[in-house]
Amino acid sequence: MISVQGKGVSTGVAIGPLYYYQRAKSTIRRFEVADTEAEWARFKAAQQKAIDQLGELAEKAREEAGDDAAMLFETHQMMAEDLDYEEAIQGLINDTRLNAEAAVTDTAAQFAEMFAGMDDPYMQARAADVKDVSGRIIGILTGVVQGGIDSPVPVILAADDLAPSETVQLDKTKILGFITEGGSGSSHTAILARTMGIPAIIGVGDQLKPEYEGREVIIDGSTGNVVIDADEATKHYLMAKLDEQRKVQEMLNLLKGQPNVTKDGHSIRIYCNIGSPDDVPAVLGNDAGGVGLFRSEFLYLNCDDYPSEDFQFEAYKKVLSDMGGKEVVIRTLDIGADKQIGYFNLPHEENPAMGNRALRICLNRPEIFHTQLRALFRASAFGKLGIMFPMVTSVWEVKEAKKMCERVKAELTKEGIPYGEDVEIGIMIETPAAAVMSDRLAKEVDFFSCGTNDLTQYTLACDRQNADLGRFFNPHHPAVLRLLKMVCDNAHKNGVWVGICGELGADLSLTETFLSIGIDELSVSPRTVLPLRQKVRETTLSECKEKLLADLLSDENTI
Ligand code: PEP
Ligand code: MG
Repeated sequence: MISVQGKGVSTGVAIGPLYYYQRAKSTIRRFEVADTEAEWARFKAAQQKAIDQLGELAEKAREEAGDDAAMLFETHQMMAEDLDYEEAIQGLINDTRLNAEAAVTDTAAQFAEMFAGMDDPYMQARAADVKDVSGRIIGILTGVVQGGIDSPVPVILAADDLAPSETVQLDKTKILGFITEGGSGSSHTAILARTMGIPAIIGVGDQLKPEYEGREVIIDGSTGNVVIDADEATKHYLMAKLDEQRKVQEMLNLLKGQPNVTKDGHSIRIYCNIGSPDDVPAVLGNDAGGVGLFRSEFLYLNCDDYPSEDFQFEAYKKVLSDMGGKEVVIRTLDIGADKQIGYFNLPHEENPAMGNRALRICLNRPEIFHTQLRALFRASAFGKLGIMFPMVTSVWEVKEAKKMCERVKAELTKEGIPYGEDVEIGIMIETPAAAVMSDRLAKEVDFFSCGTNDLTQYTLACDRQNADLGRFFNPHHPAVLRLLKMVCDNAHKNGVWVGICGELGADLSLTETFLSIGIDELSVSPRTVLPLRQKVRETTLSECKEKLLADLLSDENTI
């Protein structure tokens, strides 16, 4: 038995085979082939497999997000069998005896350059498509599954760390749990694990060896322990814990349909954070009151090019209709920092967390913002929508964003396209500037949603991605909690509601504090909804409020 210790960031026990995440190799071997006919046949087989895979992806996209979503994959299918493309590859194999993967690589580069040099922006955008299709064929030829899980059974996935663009592409049905070498509790791998309700352990460093791959592993997300080939006693103990976990879940299930109300009658809304329309069944299954944060950037991360208005519209409409009239707050694009997207071609930055990200990108590149807002307002006709802007620091930014909303609404009216009249507009409070200016900002919006992951990062000047900062990254710091109280007071003075959508909202040791300062809504991972409801229902606010508020502001509370 081998035992490895990391840090648990998503609770629960899971058991399954250990599988290392396969990242596509960036170097392609080049060599001369002896049998060009056999090499051509090898290419044709890989090409056919790619076409079949793309057909399956198109079907999946059609079911999940409609015809427009499927079209991307169908375009890729056509590209894969384009005659000019095929002939160029055949020429390289026959005339220069080049191996198939190198021939595909060279042809892709040549076609991408050709597309990029065209005047028509539509044709320019095809450069990314040809690279993507070629990458798929090369992956098949080299046997490297691009970021995939090539296992017939679900696995415990191990990786050094996973970028958000990698996590979105994973087949979630194949993952029982995560282990990462690095990472931090508020990294997006940890957030994804919590959204999926599966255990995750980060920071195991180099303790996992390649030879462990395929062996049975048990992970315990509450202790951070990873056990490979557990002995009988350990396995028995951990399986009992898994059993206990199931029983607790059964108890929690009894709370479905019950209100989130304290013993002395104070209620709070409990919503969910999601990253995709696929997460909605988990939201409803856990009886949440709505969606408090839909991270729309995950739609962009999942595409090879800017998602069209129709593609986004279908995704937003699906979430809103599936939620059946319950409120859905969709956050506009929040990329930059740790969420990088190649086709945005953002220049390298020394300090990306403080750079061109989120609303800043939207205001600097209004065409992108305009497309997203049109999709959002069109979708608003199908449910109860709230739109919120991330990374706000100044009042002018909100005014400019709202102006764009007005422009979009006027356009839709002119075009006779329906949209909801009651769309709420909100902002995230995730910078100290926004918290300090919340009295003024409250006059511009319907709601605030506190992003405590970034608010902690910026208030404490502490990188949320840096695992080594450990105890310095402390969201319980009075500086953070006092800002939350200040935001809440300013919001309520102006008739604006306040939520928390950062990970801190799920911290049960702070639920009483949040109730005391008057937070109206907590948005958490689907799995946390019922434990949070239980915590609220056990609380008698009048017994703890005064002391908690006094502690929060006390001179002794300096940490
Ligand atoms: C936050 O910063 O708390 C938040 C909810 O946004 P994200 O984690 O996506 O940055
Ligand atoms: Mg944030």
